[in-house]
Amino acid sequence: MKIDFHTHTCYSDGKETPENLVKYAEKRGIFLAITDHDNSNGIKHVLGKVIPGQEVTTQYGHVVIICNFIPHPPKDIHELIDYSKENSCIVFPSHPFDIFRKGIGNHLFDYKFDAIEIFNSKAPKNANNKAEEVSKKLNLPGLSNSDGHVKEAIGSAYNEFDINELKIDDIFDLLIGKKFKPIKVGLTKTAKLKIIEWHIQRKLFEKNTCRTMYQMQG
Ligand SMILES: [Zn+2]
Ligand SMILES: [Zn+2]
Repeated sequence: MKIDFHTHTCYSDGKETPENLVKYAEKRGIFLAITDHDNSNGIKHVLGKVIPGQEVTTQYGHVVIICNFIPHPPKDIHELIDYSKENSCIVFPSHPFDIFRKGIGNHLFDYKFDAIEIFNSKAPKNANNKAEEVSKKLNLPGLSNSDGHVKEAIGSAYNEFDINELKIDDIFDLLIGKKFKPIKVGLTKTAKLKIIEWHIQRKLFEKNTCRTMYQMQG
């Protein structure tokens, strides 16, 4: 099973509705965690088909939490990690050394994370390399995720698990036991273009993306 633990929908700054993003991923045999910025509003539309999560903007930067239920986590990094432990979730810093996109940087050494994102399709190579080095040093599982904001980014990074069903607790056990393989593919030319296109569209139109996308879907 291929799993991408970090994706965005129109419920934050992504382009697609959760339904569309999941449909696209399903066709490619990839399961998703939906991890919109600071809200879980999109997950109800695809509950049972995804791993629920959030990318939380903490005081030091971006941290992803994924759970076996729809989470409503606190934003303070200490409280977030406590919340994760209390609820058997998984918490990891996303693109930690991508300082231009709110990576938490060296703060990651101060907290007990379950894993580290070692490959983020949108992060620069040196930032990913540093994250991988640190994951080895700290002996933490290293995840490879798309951080997809457009559907074409799905498939650019994922993690291969030897499991056939979306049993979230089992997946979390395998994750913590490092019984998976992070696969780094990289963005296709089309995906790169779609990301730029989406960036410009968002600048021009902004707001209410979900309403527009659902209208287009009919
Ligand atoms: Zn982020
Ligand atoms: Zn993200």
